[in-house]
Amino acid sequence: MNKKSIQFGYKHFIKPVGIKNIYIPAVGLLGSIAGIINIYFPGAIINRLYPNSEVRAAAILVTVFCVSTLAVSSLNTFFMRKMDYESLKVTTSVKKQLVSRQLSLNLLTMESPEYADDFSFGSKCLDRNFYSVISGVIISVISLVLLLIGSVTIIREKKIVCLYIVGSLLLLPASYVAQNMINKNKYSEQVADNSERREMETLQWNMLDLQYGQEVRAFGLRKFLAGKYNYCRNYVYDAMKVCCKKNAVWAIIPAVIFGTQLIAAYLLTMNQYTRGEIEVGDFVMYVAAFTGVANAIMQIADEAVRIKAEGRYFGALQKCFTYDTESEGERLERQTGELSFKTLEFKDVSFSYGGDDTYALKNINLKIHEGERIAIVGENGSGKTTFIKLLTGLYKPTKGAVLINGKDISLFGKDEISRLISPVFQDYALTYYTIRENIAFADEIDEERMEAVLKEVGLDQKIETLNKGIDTHVFYKLDNEGTEMSGGELQKVAIARALYKDSPILILDEPTAALSPKAERELYHRIWEFKDQRTIFLISHRLSSCVEAEKIVVLKDGEITELGTHAELTEAKGYYNSLFSAQAKNYKD
Ligand code: ADP
Repeated sequence: MNKKSIQFGYKHFIKPVGIKNIYIPAVGLLGSIAGIINIYFPGAIINRLYPNSEVRAAAILVTVFCVSTLAVSSLNTFFMRKMDYESLKVTTSVKKQLVSRQLSLNLLTMESPEYADDFSFGSKCLDRNFYSVISGVIISVISLVLLLIGSVTIIREKKIVCLYIVGSLLLLPASYVAQNMINKNKYSEQVADNSERREMETLQWNMLDLQYGQEVRAFGLRKFLAGKYNYCRNYVYDAMKVCCKKNAVWAIIPAVIFGTQLIAAYLLTMNQYTRGEIEVGDFVMYVAAFTGVANAIMQIADEAVRIKAEGRYFGALQKCFTYDTESEGERLERQTGELSFKTLEFKDVSFSYGGDDTYALKNINLKIHEGERIAIVGENGSGKTTFIKLLTGLYKPTKGAVLINGKDISLFGKDEISRLISPVFQDYALTYYTIRENIAFADEIDEERMEAVLKEVGLDQKIETLNKGIDTHVFYKLDNEGTEMSGGELQKVAIARALYKDSPILILDEPTAALSPKAERELYHRIWEFKDQRTIFLISHRLSSCVEAEKIVVLKDGEITELGTHAELTEAKGYYNSLFSAQAKNYKD
């Protein structure tokens, strides 16, 4: 664990627990007292019973032994539960922060495999978190110190016990190296097959997804998906098998070390017993004390390895908290206090998904004013969606800048951008909640606006047929009385959501694929007709839906090739005209 990780761990796992961290030393202290009681009393009781039968004294010791064990164990269990509770609380809080951070991550970052890896490793260390690692170390150190003091006090031959402790400490590095190798192998195995593990998780989720159900059945995907799953599972099992084999060899070392310590403990004690220096009860007591010391010392090696091992996962968790989030600009925008929309400008914008020389958009220069109605057209892969993702601030330009009201879009917080722009993406997603919640994201709604919007998108009649009306769940998943809407109806809900938000900029990125060309044209026609100052961007590969736009931006291979009204562009008889004519032949409905 490096300095940054430790600082991060302290801030997120230790500091929030505060004064209640006292539970950790309490557990350490009570654990060691329980250990010392167990070392001392059985031997002491035997000493009272043999060779002389001091039953009364033995009975008193048995009573003290039982009562003290009961009291210490109960208290220890109580503090351990308290510690577990604090650990759970702190883990839940970090999980919450991780999820909320993930929700505000830059989209490109969230989509990157690097983040997926860090997230997958980072979230692994949440269940065995920094709090439990640190508490484990503190408890082990306290236990070791107290057990050493206890054993040195109990064993009369101080020289022998000191020798035994030194010997055990000398064996500590060997135990550490072996345990460390075991953990290193486990980690390497997880790194090596992480993508297969991820694929397995994704497949499991996909198979549970209702929407996937129909694809699986219609295309007979069961065998195909099961094959993919089995391949990943075998890959992971094979990697685990190799790792287990290696670790079985390494695991011999700590076993041999402990065996040696045990033999030494018995030999040293037997030697004293045969020389008549100690009694039978002392024999039991000394062996327990020696083995207690051996265990406590080896526990230190375990904890040191654990810190190192968890540190690898913990580093990934800490890294998850260092990725850029979208809200960076929020403060700056609040300071300017500017919220109304005047202009939007793409200034020499180029964008590459991989950050390399393959550009999805190249040298885009375009200025849009409030109230303009723009159509973005072009063939598949020409960059229309990428253009929208840049416009909504979801991606940052690789070169150039996107300006809103003359200011770089990155200066605007995500809340501001969300207030300015209502997008409906091609791959929009609805939640499993009700129609009302999907459109308004709230229980309290502006009924009048909702009614107008539902009418606008042509959903009003459908909703009248539903038992629970607008409070019907969009899918069956959360409510048996939910409905299963058609693709076109679902798209209408998504569009209604954007219209209800009533932002100054409306973007529809081909959300109408499930509508017939005629239905799309009618819907777009109604939208072009909006009698307000809303700025509208419509994207469609059906050019007939865009003829009413005030400006048509024609994209080809990531570049703007033409710009103008439908009349201007058809007259120019260029690329747009050829696309339009080709489609006109197909869409004579
Ligand atoms: P359109 O919306 O016009 O179909 P896109 O903007 O989706 O086009 O895509 C433009 C180019 O960028 C295409 O070559 C596409 O393959 C590529 N592209 C789109 N999304 C990604 C992505 N997430 N990662 C890498 N390349 C992408």
